[in-house]
Amino acid sequence: MVLSKEAIRQKLAEQPVQLQDGTRLPKLGQGTWFIGNHPDKRQEEIRALRTGIELGMRLVDTAEMYGEGRAESLVGEAVQGIRDEVFLVSKVYPHHADRKQIIRSCENSLKRLQTDRLDLYLLHWRGSVPLSETVEGMERLVEQGKILRWGVSNLDTKDMKELFGLPEGARCAVNQVLYHLGSRGIEFDLLPWQRERCVPTMAYCPLAQAGSLQRGLTEHKTVKEIARKYGLGPLQLLLAWCIRQDDIIAIPKASSEAHVLENAAAVSVRLSEEDLVLLDQAFPPPSRKVPLDIV
Ligand code: NDP
Repeated sequence: MVLSKEAIRQKLAEQPVQLQDGTRLPKLGQGTWFIGNHPDKRQEEIRALRTGIELGMRLVDTAEMYGEGRAESLVGEAVQGIRDEVFLVSKVYPHHADRKQIIRSCENSLKRLQTDRLDLYLLHWRGSVPLSETVEGMERLVEQGKILRWGVSNLDTKDMKELFGLPEGARCAVNQVLYHLGSRGIEFDLLPWQRERCVPTMAYCPLAQAGSLQRGLTEHKTVKEIARKYGLGPLQLLLAWCIRQDDIIAIPKASSEAHVLENAAAVSVRLSEEDLVLLDQAFPPPSRKVPLDIV
């Protein structure tokens, strides 16, 4: 499917996902896991990220864990001169998420990202540090202006309920979890629970890691047929499916401009009810509680 850059930018701007504080974000952002690991690919990866930002995929997701800081350093280089256009998300390791170390971790991320603040800082997954301590640390970072807001990642419904029961726990802006057509467990209770509280979901692995997380997903007859109907490839269809609702932000990772352009084009498609039913038949939504899928 061929769409001009301007048309993609417009589509992304027209259908924002809104945070509780009113901030409007594009439905498509960009992931960075495994980016920055190969010096010979660095320039292409930077070009890919910048192209995505230019197209309106201006939310960039990274983490101190990715390449032990190498992904953040690459993102820092990519956003030079355009920092204000970008919504920067990074994540703290669970074992750094106590009230003292979280400050140091955040400062180190800021250095690598060559910026003075993060737009969103996430607890990468739940570890042994009590959530109350992490919330305290996050709120301290907000007071210091080092982060503008915070959220969590890989928290299932039970953990989210515990978080929201804490003083200031409900200031959590998003939960970033694994979500793609072949992994729909969150639709049973986590998504509805977050929806009631206006907490958007950030979908990681929206391409099921190019289909490798679930055998047969991209080769499935229904996926291929519906994709063809819209002039999309199977991976683009996965993305269009992921962002079909207005409180889900997908963060596909792509390390080439060509892949970024393909992914961005997924925003042009609104799947029909009939197609969604066919996809439900092929990949049924959960009918009972399923533990959160994690990579
Ligand atoms: P994705 O589902 O985004 O898939 C990434 C893979 O798809 C890469 O191999 C990429 O290849 C390939 N790809 C991208 N676009 C295309 C395309 N148009 N055609 C063919 N192949 C394509 O997996 P990720 O695991 O990267 O998840 C996305 C992001 O979510 C991460 O990068 C990270 O930021 C975040 N994440 C968060 C987690 C958490 O615990 N909070 C866990 C996992 C991910 P190529 O690089 O060659 O373009």
